Amino acid sequence: MQHEFSTPGISRTCGRILCIAAVLTVFCVSLRATDIRKIQPAFWWAGIDSTPLQVLLYGDRLADAEPSLSTGAVSIRETVRFANPDYLILYLDIQGAAPQTFDILLKKGKHTERVPYELRPRRTGTDYAQGFDAGDVVYLLMPDRFANGNPDNDTVAGLLEKTADRTRPDSRHGGDLEGVMQHLDYFSRLGVTALWMTPVLENDMPGGSYHGYAVTDYYRIDPRFGSNETYRQLVEQAHGKGIKVIMDMVFNHCGSENFLFKDMPDADWFNHGKQYVQTNYETLAPSDVHAADTIRALAVNGWFTECMPDWNQCNRYVADYLIQNSIWWVEYAGIDGIRQDTHPYIDSAMSARWCNTLSALYPRFNIVGEAWTGNNVSVAYWQKNSWVPDAFNSGLPTVMDFPLMDILNRVATDGQGLYPVYSYLAQDAVYADPMRLLTFLDNHDTSRFCRNEKEASDRNRFRQAMTLLLTLRGIPQLYYGTEIMESGDKAQGDGLLRKDFPGGWAGDTTNVFTGTNLQPRQQEAFRFTQKLLQWRRGNEVIARGSLKHFPPVNGVYVYERKYNGRPVVVMLNGTACGQTLPLGLYREILPAKAAHDVLTGTDITLDGTLSFPPYGIYLLEF
Ligand code: CA
Repeated sequence: MQHEFSTPGISRTCGRILCIAAVLTVFCVSLRATDIRKIQPAFWWAGIDSTPLQVLLYGDRLADAEPSLSTGAVSIRETVRFANPDYLILYLDIQGAAPQTFDILLKKGKHTERVPYELRPRRTGTDYAQGFDAGDVVYLLMPDRFANGNPDNDTVAGLLEKTADRTRPDSRHGGDLEGVMQHLDYFSRLGVTALWMTPVLENDMPGGSYHGYAVTDYYRIDPRFGSNETYRQLVEQAHGKGIKVIMDMVFNHCGSENFLFKDMPDADWFNHGKQYVQTNYETLAPSDVHAADTIRALAVNGWFTECMPDWNQCNRYVADYLIQNSIWWVEYAGIDGIRQDTHPYIDSAMSARWCNTLSALYPRFNIVGEAWTGNNVSVAYWQKNSWVPDAFNSGLPTVMDFPLMDILNRVATDGQGLYPVYSYLAQDAVYADPMRLLTFLDNHDTSRFCRNEKEASDRNRFRQAMTLLLTLRGIPQLYYGTEIMESGDKAQGDGLLRKDFPGGWAGDTTNVFTGTNLQPRQQEAFRFTQKLLQWRRGNEVIARGSLKHFPPVNGVYVYERKYNGRPVVVMLNGTACGQTLPLGLYREILPAKAAHDVLTGTDITLDGTLSFPPYGIYLLEF
């Protein structure tokens, strides 16, 4: 997430907050079930019990109640009251407790409210929390912009944003989880193996929150996308087709309409309490050994935008709340991984605890953090077991490789050869685990790889970048629409980067799912991407192989991936000129005088020299 897409539509309405909070404070004199507005988490699982379970209760003057439990199998370890008497937090010791339902008893005067609470049996089987790695290709889509499977939920009564309007870039367009479910076969046909959807949790904001990064309830799927059950079904159906699901989480900030902000337990739950203090967006500061204290503090503790207040993760109640939320979604929906938004803006001790907790519970699980900086040292700082001097251990297995994105975009455009790619990868020693970096050409916060129509008509540029992305080290991520060379320049606004996927709406004249009305260049881009993806899927050489490369000669970059003695050799002419390369230099990676070119399906003779057309590519198997 990047600050440029702050949402002025939201800012204008922040003033409503107090009025809404006042309306919610209804007149209740005795404790009834209806007095309890939220119980979070609403249920839990027996066996996930290494630390006491935090149960947050929110309702009228719950702090006045004396809590007890109807069972001896569970005990109250700690009762926490806050300045705001509408909150009560119980820490329950559930160690060894079997699956069961018991009552939380809240005695207030002569009344005792029974609040049923369930400890469910844990998930069984192996098709959840599977993690993702370089054997996968992640497909990033924005649910509001991918496919509208259910026009009836485009607007939902009672939510603050009243309209959906496809003509407005900042409005909701109606895409939803049903739309994604209806097209699961598309992902298989394309050849990607994991879905990352931008956040699907409730964003009940007055406007501009179609992207999902202003969460107002961490335990509820936004009803415009579907229900919690729809999400659970989506994950299950995706798993049935061999596709993993990565959930996008936001721990740094929430939407200002979140009940925990509007009516916060106490001022310590958010940095600067209710007072808006803008972050400086200095993502370098946390890893900068020279950083001024004030700069570092403002980076981490300032608000993302006025309507995205900053969680105080140093507050242990906040930390527990967020950490439990992730576990809840793993167990409830069976997700395979998490993408964490704006990772460096989160208190680092808390985010490390979060990563380590999930890794301990789910050893195969993977988390990718967005650490948007322009150089490998500061990206490396955020990866688990980093050996950057002074790095703390983040516990974060995967970090986004923003520097490589910049380079792949630049070399594709300037046609000056691929030395910058070689030079960057030659510095991979800085990374604790370069194979676990998330690599990409673009995402929802950047210009699309094809920024304009000129770039979108340049097949060579596209083929070069896609080949590099899908054959170099790392876990590749594609952004929806890039497979058909959709274009968009961030300079013209985020809405353009997040265009509706053609075919996702009834009446679309262009339809990627059926191939209807695609331009020839789009069909060619799709087929090229599909060919590479299908070849890559299950290919252990690419998933696990070593990388050995040579400094480009005349702009031609040559590298080998190798696993269990089996090589793949990639040769790319990164220039607009034809080149002829003497092959003697590459003898150590060329085991034979002939090879099979995956892209053309032809056999290539490797004797003496090899000629390349402008931007020519060979993807060789032996
Ligand atoms: Ca819809």
